[in-house]
Amino acid sequence: MAFRLLSGDLFGIEGREVEVEVDLIPALSSFVISGLPGKGIRESRERIRSALENSGFRYPDRHRIVINLAPASWHKDGAAFDLPIAISILAASGQIAPESLRGWAVLGELALDGRVRSIAGCLGIITRLRRSAVRSVLVPASNHSLALAVEGLHVVGASTLQEALAVIRGERIDPPATVPGAPSDRPEEPFPDLSEVRGHHHARRVLEISATGEHSLLMVGPPGSGKSFLARRLPGILPPMNQNQQVEVTQIHDVCGEFAHQQLVISRPFRAPHHSVSWAGLIGGGSPPMPGEVTRAHHGVLFLDEFPELARRSLEALREPLEEGSVTISRSGWSRKFPSRFLLVAAMNPCPCGYASASSPTRCRCSPTTLANYRARISGPIIDRVDLHLQIEPISAQQLLDPPDRSLESSAVVRRRIEQARQRATDRGQQGPNRDLEWSDHDGWAPLSREARQLLLDGQQQGEVSTRGLTRWLRLARTIADMRSGEQIEAVDLLEAMTLRTPSSSLV
Ligand SMILES: [Zn+2]
Repeated sequence: MAFRLLSGDLFGIEGREVEVEVDLIPALSSFVISGLPGKGIRESRERIRSALENSGFRYPDRHRIVINLAPASWHKDGAAFDLPIAISILAASGQIAPESLRGWAVLGELALDGRVRSIAGCLGIITRLRRSAVRSVLVPASNHSLALAVEGLHVVGASTLQEALAVIRGERIDPPATVPGAPSDRPEEPFPDLSEVRGHHHARRVLEISATGEHSLLMVGPPGSGKSFLARRLPGILPPMNQNQQVEVTQIHDVCGEFAHQQLVISRPFRAPHHSVSWAGLIGGGSPPMPGEVTRAHHGVLFLDEFPELARRSLEALREPLEEGSVTISRSGWSRKFPSRFLLVAAMNPCPCGYASASSPTRCRCSPTTLANYRARISGPIIDRVDLHLQIEPISAQQLLDPPDRSLESSAVVRRRIEQARQRATDRGQQGPNRDLEWSDHDGWAPLSREARQLLLDGQQQGEVSTRGLTRWLRLARTIADMRSGEQIEAVDLLEAMTLRTPSSSLV
C-alpha cells in the first residue's frame, strides 16, 4: 500500500511543501525515485538502507521500492528527504503503524549508522510548513533550537532514527526548551559608535537622513577621509529589526550554512565585500544556488568601497535589487529569487589617484581621459538610484589633536531620534521606510506648502525633473520633514533634498 508523508525543501530562502510517496511492490529488489530528484537524493538508497539496518529495522528486500516526490514538476535537491523516505518505508512495510504519522512532517539527512544529520535551510522550510495542515514537525536535533523560533507548530528534535520513531510513537516526551534568541534575552552585537566621529558634522546629518528613510548613499572623498569609518557606524543607528525581519535574516544565514549558534540573528547585517568580488559572489549563484552579498545584506547595510572598481556587469546588476528589493538568479533549467532589501552605501575616490579635490594637499596626477573613464564607470542609471550624495573632506590635524568632544551624540541617542521620525511614517499607515513610497500615492504622503510647490514648479519649468527624479526628491524631502516632526513638506525640506540628491561637483 502506498504511504504518504509531508516534508519540504528550499526555493531561494523560502521553504516549499514536498510530499514523499512510497509504494512497495513485490518484485526483484530495486529502488526508484521519481519527481526530478537531484544527485544527492538519487544517492540516498545506500544511506537509507544502512541506517535502517543499523537501527534494528528491516530493509524490504524482494520489493521494488517506488518513491515519488510530489509535486513532480520542480527540481529537488539536498538530503533532507532521507529521514521521511526511511520512515515512509517503515510505514509502507508495516514496521510502524501508519496512523501514528498523521499530522506529522519530517525533515532530516541520515548517516549510515542511523544518526540524523542537520540540514541547511530548516528554518525556511518550517516557516512554510506552518501554513500547511501539519501540526507537528520532526527535525534533526541540531536544528531544533533554531526551529523553535517558529511559533504555532509543535517542533521536536531527534538525533537518531530510533529516537525519531520513539517520538512519533509518543514514547519520548521532549524536554521543554527555551526559545532561543528571543530578542529580550540577548543584547545586539555592538556596532562602532557615532560618538567616535570627530568633525564631519554634515556627514553625521546625511547618515541620519539615510538611516531614517533608508535612502542610498554615495560618499566621494580622498583616501583616508573617513568614508569607511562613517559607513561602519550606519547599522548601529538603524532601528532594531522586528521579529519577521530577524527570521528572514536568520533564514539567509541558515541557507548559507553560516550557523554556529543556532539562534535568531538580531543584529542588522553589515556586508562590505572587496571590489574584486565576483558577479556570483555579489548577486548570487552557484549550484545549488547560494545567496550573494546583496542578499546577505538583506535588512542591513551593503557597503561597496572603491565603487567604480567593481566589474561593470556587477554594477549594472545592482539595479534589480535596488528597484525590486529582490534578485532573480537564472541558469539553464532553474531560477531562484532571493530577497535583497539593503541600504546601499557606496564610496569612491574623486579620481583614480585619489587627490582630485579642491582641498587636497597633493596634486592629482590623472589625465583628463583617465578621469573621464573613471567617472563613466558609474553610469547614469546607477547614479540616478543614489538618493544622497556626500562629499567628504579629510578632517584637519588640529581636529584630530583636539581632546574628544564629549558633546557628540552617541549612536543610541541618534537611533532614538530616528525611531521617533520613523514613527511618523507608521502613523501615516506606511508599512516600509520612506524610500518605498510610490508616486501614485503622493497626495497622501507629500502634502506641500505653497512655497515648496512653487519650488517644484520652477524646477520643472527649467526642464530638470522626470517623474522618477521628482519622486526621489519628494521621498527624501518627506524624510527630512519627518525628522523635524513636520506634517507638510516645506520649501526648506525640499531644498535640502534637492541639494543632497545632486551628484558631488567632482562627479560632473
Ligand atoms: Zn587623480
